Amino acid sequence: DPPVQKYEYQAEVSRLMDLIVNSLYSNKEVFFRELISNASDALDKLRFLSVTDPELLKDAVDLDIRVQTDKDNGTITITDTGIGMTRQELVDCLGTIAQSGTAKFLKAVKDSKGAGADNNLIGQFGVGFYSAFLVSDRVVVSTKSPKSDKQYVWEGKANASSYTIREETDPEKLIPRGTCLTLYMKRDDKGFAHPERIQKLVKNYSQFVSFPIYTWQEKGFTKEVEVDEDPAETKKDGEDGKDEKKKKTKTMVERYWDWELTNETQPIWLRNPKEVTTEEYNEFYKKTFNEYLDPLASSHFTTEGEVEFRSILYVPAIAPTGRDDIINPKTKNIRLYVKRVFISDDFDGELFPRYLSFVKGVVDSNDLPLNVSREILQESRIVRIMRKRLVRKAFDMILGISMSENREDYEKFWENFGKNLKLGCIEDRENHKRIAPLLRFFSSQSDEEMISLDEYVENMKPEQKDIYYIATDSLTSARNTPFLERLSEKDFEVLFLIDPIDEVAIQNLKSYKEKNFVDISKEDLDLGDKNEKEKEMKQEFGQTCEWIKKHLGDKVSSVQISNRLSTSPCVLVSGKFGWSANMERLMKAQAV
Ligand code: ADP
Ligand code: MG
Repeated sequence: DPPVQKYEYQAEVSRLMDLIVNSLYSNKEVFFRELISNASDALDKLRFLSVTDPELLKDAVDLDIRVQTDKDNGTITITDTGIGMTRQELVDCLGTIAQSGTAKFLKAVKDSKGAGADNNLIGQFGVGFYSAFLVSDRVVVSTKSPKSDKQYVWEGKANASSYTIREETDPEKLIPRGTCLTLYMKRDDKGFAHPERIQKLVKNYSQFVSFPIYTWQEKGFTKEVEVDEDPAETKKDGEDGKDEKKKKTKTMVERYWDWELTNETQPIWLRNPKEVTTEEYNEFYKKTFNEYLDPLASSHFTTEGEVEFRSILYVPAIAPTGRDDIINPKTKNIRLYVKRVFISDDFDGELFPRYLSFVKGVVDSNDLPLNVSREILQESRIVRIMRKRLVRKAFDMILGISMSENREDYEKFWENFGKNLKLGCIEDRENHKRIAPLLRFFSSQSDEEMISLDEYVENMKPEQKDIYYIATDSLTSARNTPFLERLSEKDFEVLFLIDPIDEVAIQNLKSYKEKNFVDISKEDLDLGDKNEKEKEMKQEFGQTCEWIKKHLGDKVSSVQISNRLSTSPCVLVSGKFGWSANMERLMKAQAV
């Protein structure tokens, strides 16, 4: 026999295994979802590669998943005809932590110190392949990659710090391609190894897998059997009783075992939106993107005409943690399919501008070639049109949240993704019209609840021409600024821009509904009421101004009479064309 080689797990895996094996997590059946989704991923990979290399399919033409249970021995076997793994891949994939979901889980465990937290987190983040050990004492993975002519067996036990790999030698166990995974269930979990139980799990968890899942089921068909009149002499097989006594026909059930197609294989995005429930959309989202919270909104649509595609888009409930994510377009948030074949989720702004990269979803096009490459995507006219439509739909979806009766929904959205929209003001002139109504700010008349620009405009006084704002570092300094005095007296509302990005965003917008944004801290603030009194004041205090300017010298560029104050004697304002005080502060902070 070829040698059995022993390997130690990477330290993180050992820690993860400990957590899983000792967990009191009650929703153990998540193991099934994880393993089926791995099988489905492996099939996706193979299908994608076979587009350019049809030879890959020759060993096994059918792309499917088969689940067999043995209730007497307490085992479950999951077989796929996917991409399989080489010996090295077994070490890399099942001996180290590569996947982000599992890493997220470990980080969350580290961050949360409460007792029992681990148990809830397992369900929230998913622990991938290792979830098999929630229910199994021993897991055997026998796998054959088209890249290798040998089949290898990985074997791991719960509570062990090492695993083994050997070559498969049992001819009965050789498979043409793919992976066959056998779970030896823990004593208390043998109940999973029942055909009906597995059938239920497939229906619950895997309705969105786009490959057929077969389960090994006991079936029966009825047949008419001739039996003797005397029930004591009834025989199972009617043909046996050949003697010519009195006969009677009876209906019998013949039992046998066979594969049964157990899931619905039509992808959810191909279904009629009218027939898909919110729960189904949410389930699909959570499964596809490894999320544990329902999305804030979803949008399912088909576009026709020049370019045809179907899509489901989602707005997540929370922003990813980590600051970089705001502008990281490589989020794997959009999964592109061509004619139902998964192509890629590795985009860098091709389908969504970076400020909208938080939007998640699937896009399925019939117009792109199956072997579409990165270069094709970047230059394709079709992709450009798709992008335009997707962006428009994303804005419609966000607008939908903003119009929801539940004001909290949009507050949540704004808290998580408001910055992204402000970035959009700076980076996407073309969509200003769509972005502006979605912006929210505090104001001098609403410093607890944020208002929209529409609400601002509605609240404008008849004689008011412009939209006023002040940019500062906090609500408190905005409230207390002397610049507000005259405006408050006239009951003009002033937007409080307290996020560093606000001022640049507003300056990029320039106007809203034909009303200019005006910084109240700049010189020449025109409140529309220049009057005789100002002329008089200028005459009376002109010399005083000159005197002050002489004493301050280069520290100020001019000293002027103004009507913008009512109680304070003087105020420092910024030049018309210079930076505002806030901007100067920000620039200084950045220069450090
Ligand atoms: P993830 O699926 O998120 O990558 P998992 O822990 O579920 O993480 O799986 C780890 C890796 O093991 C997968 O990325 C894949 O490379 C490999 N793998 C797991 N199951 C299979 C399978 N049935 N066929 C081929 N490769 C698999
Ligand atoms: Mg997985």
